[in-house]
Amino acid sequence: AKKMRLDKLLANMGFGTRSEVKRAVKQRRVSVDGMVAKDSGLLLDPAAAVVLFDDERVIYRDVIYVMLNKPQGVVSATEDRRDRTVVDLLDPEDGVLQPFPVGRLDKDTEGLLLLTNDGRMAHELLSPRKHVPKTYEADVLGDVGESDVEAFAAGVTLDDGYETMPAQLFVREREAAAEGVLSRITLTIHEGKFHQVKRMFQAVGKEVVYLRRIAMGPLKLDPALPLGNYRELTDVELELLL
Ligand code: URA
Repeated sequence: AKKMRLDKLLANMGFGTRSEVKRAVKQRRVSVDGMVAKDSGLLLDPAAAVVLFDDERVIYRDVIYVMLNKPQGVVSATEDRRDRTVVDLLDPEDGVLQPFPVGRLDKDTEGLLLLTNDGRMAHELLSPRKHVPKTYEADVLGDVGESDVEAFAAGVTLDDGYETMPAQLFVREREAAAEGVLSRITLTIHEGKFHQVKRMFQAVGKEVVYLRRIAMGPLKLDPALPLGNYRELTDVELELLL
């Protein structure tokens, strides 16, 4: 197995900066395989060595899978010159594994966003050939009706001439709003063109005023996860995705 320095392992697993964990080693707070570590540069197999920090077992892992309930106002990127990114919402401890967002939600879109450093999984979920379904809930200005359901099932033409694949539209409720009728809908699409949901409604003369994603492939947004919060995927969720 690939060897790693003790101080790197501890820093990567969130036990402090390199200099902090070096100090902890000097203070005899770290043991490896039952012996107090004397050298923070010790090379070890991170998957096999039994490392304790203040008697707490240091479990090594190098992949991370996070479900985020994305709030509005943050961008789906790892870095941005102007805006806060979804990665900024994570603890630095989880950030060391460098998860990145799997696909994008618009700055003003909320809901399910998966972040991982598993490039293979990201590729599988994003591959246009796989047609991974994505389900959204939206509030749409206008009276969304049966003709729209049929149009979305057949495919609509976006502003750039692109013909969308069949999509499943369901009207949950309609209500009167100051601006007219507001339709609350659920939509499942099987592709991911830029601003796709907003542009599909544009194609039928209606405007999305609120959008959130609730599912991506087999992964469903945890209803107990508050906006702006995140958690790691459960083993069950992970198994559905792998
Ligand atoms: N479709 C959109 O228009 N925006 C999103 O963020 C996601 C899908």
